[in-house]
Amino acid sequence: MTTPGATGLILEEALLFEQSVPDRVGFSLPSADVPTADPKTKLPKNILRQKEAALPEISEVDCVRHFVRLSQQNYCKDVGLFPLGSCTMKYNPKTTEAAARIPGFANSHPLAMPEAMQGNLQLIFELQAYLAEISGMDFVTPWPAAGSHGELTGMLMIRAYHTAKGNPRKKVIIPDSAHGTNPASAAICQYEVVTIPSNKDGILTADAVKAVMDDEVAALMVTNPNTLGIFEENIQEICDIVHKKGGLVYCDGANLNALLGIVKLGEAGIDVLHFNLHKTFSTPHGGGGPGAGPVGVKKKLEPFLPTPLIIKENGTFKVEQNRPQSIGRVKAYFGNFGMLVRAYAYIREFGPEGLKQISEMAVLNANYIRKGLEGDYYLPYSKPSLHECVFNDKLQKEKEIKTLDISKRLMDYGFHPFTIYFPLIVHGAMMIEPTESEPKASLDQFIEAMKKIAKECAENPELVKKAPHNTFRSRLDEVKAAKELKLRWTS
Ligand SMILES: *Cc1c(COP(=O)(O)O)cnc(C)c1O
Repeated sequence: MTTPGATGLILEEALLFEQSVPDRVGFSLPSADVPTADPKTKLPKNILRQKEAALPEISEVDCVRHFVRLSQQNYCKDVGLFPLGSCTMKYNPKTTEAAARIPGFANSHPLAMPEAMQGNLQLIFELQAYLAEISGMDFVTPWPAAGSHGELTGMLMIRAYHTAKGNPRKKVIIPDSAHGTNPASAAICQYEVVTIPSNKDGILTADAVKAVMDDEVAALMVTNPNTLGIFEENIQEICDIVHKKGGLVYCDGANLNALLGIVKLGEAGIDVLHFNLHKTFSTPHGGGGPGAGPVGVKKKLEPFLPTPLIIKENGTFKVEQNRPQSIGRVKAYFGNFGMLVRAYAYIREFGPEGLKQISEMAVLNANYIRKGLEGDYYLPYSKPSLHECVFNDKLQKEKEIKTLDISKRLMDYGFHPFTIYFPLIVHGAMMIEPTESEPKASLDQFIEAMKKIAKECAENPELVKKAPHNTFRSRLDEVKAAKELKLRWTS
């Protein structure tokens, strides 16, 4: 078989500090033809270093190679399949990058007067409307900087809503299949988390919600499609139960790339929903930021939206700050505006039909992998999945091989491992999300590698248990790394 990864030309490299040679410099310029002064004689004493900084002294070539090699070690979506379930690592079209670099957008000043940035405001205004249309919500705030920040913003609005009615309430119901950020967001908003189980099909039942729903519950937080990649088909009935007791329903819409053009969650009764622009609308994940996690709400929550609001009055776009019941600002200036430009460009590029096709492809690809590996790996839930599928290591247990071993071995075949040990309700979970952008040939290659590993598990288990073999480093002592963390280089 062929592998997409480079396995031969791997360079072992010393730390920059170890490469350092005293007095070596990274440039060669003629000496100055004007008088120079030692900065130490010009700067105030109190800001001068007591001791020379321990910086590496290396040549320009060594420096450039070091950073280029590091950049190449950073496996990314532009290099190959990155099947992390729940994270949606999909290819982002470069047209959206080009849009974000249009000078009028890229160079606009965050403190410019609204009259001088009508184009930016129009883009934000229209993006809000598109996201509202896609999700079936009434209003959208684009400011939160991540999905989890969207959750916090949404929960703050829910708290403000109940508080305005006289009682913030005490509890938030969250299923055991929830993303870890959900209980964290509820807890930060001072709610007690009540966990409820999903059923044997991996979904929430109306009865489970009914059993704990009372008038102390501020909201139910539910992920749909959930972290098993399964659609919560009882959602409408569940929303009715929560609403009857005066509660609200928060939907974690991080994985909306399974539902575009197919389901509008707002119409199912959802009151608050966040979007992850970096999972669904082509903005880069970018190592933790800057990101955007806009939040959609129903009309009853509109007074509590964060400031500012971008509104349109007599053909002019305005920045509305005067909102007495608002939860206030959640992000400086206009959020991570470049992300909003990318998402806007993506939506305009694909249009309604194209967006629907994105979801159809995401679901098709996940089910292709699911079918392809069924039998080689155990499927704990039999319901068809949407954009991702979850296997576990049950069939490999007999040879004492764990999910971790399988994912390490996958690297030898040139694939980034999938998400492991999440969701927590699946023991030894292998959560695979190929995304819509992956061509069939790469799915076939991945399936072939996984099948080969399944065969190795049966025939040569030691090979798998000691993997990876072709990487810079083999199995690391993760416990030691965590317990004896060493971040500082010392000479
Ligand atoms: C990714 C994800 C989040 C968190 O989003 P961030 O942008 O990483 O903060 C929340 N919920 C679900 C279901 C997710 O997949």
